[in-house]
Amino acid sequence: MAVRRLSESLSRTLMEDIHRCSLKKQTGVSLKYMMDFSGYPTGNNLLFSAQFLHKELPVRLAHRVIELENLPHRLSIKAPVLKVRDWYVDSFKDLRSFPEVLNSADELKFTELIHQIKIRHNNVVPTMAMGIQQLKEDLGRKMGLNELPEIHQFLDRFYMSRIGIRMLIGQHVALHQRRPPAGYIGLICTHVSPVEVAQNAIDDARSACMRTYGSAPEVHVYGDPSFKFAYVPTHLHQMIFELLKNSLRAVQELFMDADHDCPPIRVVVADGNEDVTIKISDEGGGIPRSGLSKIWTYLYTTAKSPLANGEQIQDTPNVMAGYGYGLPISRLYARYFGGDLQVISMEGYGTDAYLHLNRLGNVQEPLP
Ligand code: ADP
Ligand code: MG
Repeated sequence: MAVRRLSESLSRTLMEDIHRCSLKKQTGVSLKYMMDFSGYPTGNNLLFSAQFLHKELPVRLAHRVIELENLPHRLSIKAPVLKVRDWYVDSFKDLRSFPEVLNSADELKFTELIHQIKIRHNNVVPTMAMGIQQLKEDLGRKMGLNELPEIHQFLDRFYMSRIGIRMLIGQHVALHQRRPPAGYIGLICTHVSPVEVAQNAIDDARSACMRTYGSAPEVHVYGDPSFKFAYVPTHLHQMIFELLKNSLRAVQELFMDADHDCPPIRVVVADGNEDVTIKISDEGGGIPRSGLSKIWTYLYTTAKSPLANGEQIQDTPNVMAGYGYGLPISRLYARYFGGDLQVISMEGYGTDAYLHLNRLGNVQEPLP
């Protein structure tokens, strides 16, 4: 197979430009800044935001291109990884060849461009997962991915950066909505009810469980339904959904053959001054202590991998389990706005997941 390294396939000027941009510092923003800045998007706000993104996005993309080019264990030359790299390079080129954003007509064109870029990158996660899966097969059983901390650290940085880029683009594009839903500033909702989001996530996760097993354990929610705070509802839904799928699967598999009803999963929402914490508790038997550090790695799963038999990888929401991405990606979403995710297990009994969400939202994006 002819391997196209960047340096061979791209013009020297483009390579140099990518290198130059990759040396620049990335600029982070916070949830609070995103809200304050664009409370009532005027033409000037939009122009300023576009000008910021026109400078910032190429810098963030260039950091990723350089990293994708220099991965250990020949991961950089796996076909899926090359594909991902090419998407980053193409988007970099598109942004760099876009002229300065000077007026609202430019701004509209620029918004269309970044919207298209966001779509181009839709399948980055499953494509990257395919590359990692190939690496796992190369390494064979002797050495699992758990022995490759540098790959996991890279994926953490890579996916965290992706969350940030998509948030910034999504936010800018959403500010153009003619009639934004009440309480929304772009993608941010100023009064999200975590109890309500949890209810929706429960419906979705239980449906997935039903499709896989034919039945689904009960889930009970405890917390004040009228309590609201500012957050990105899609992020919140995604995190709770992933945690619930794990709990449902554990309980379902443990009690599948039992003749009595299985114990319900409990979701507790607490509003503190600093954090909103959501605890998801199950009695699904827990995780052995020796497995606990592995749950944060990519592709660690005790479910049969849908990838193993060479099936086409799908978008994760459609499957109950098997990619091993649920927990590490959820933790990145939590950390992106200054929160965190912890999993505590009692082997032989069950698991508690604590999802901490920073309330003030004035923590700056982590910039890998
Ligand atoms: P996946 O669900 O695709 O396997 P995750 O990252 O969501 O990937 O979880 C990784 C692994 O952690 C699971 O395969 C399972 O072995 C373990 N795990 C996660 N949550 C729980 C839980 N609530 N109870 C028991 N095991 C769990
Ligand atoms: Mg999962």
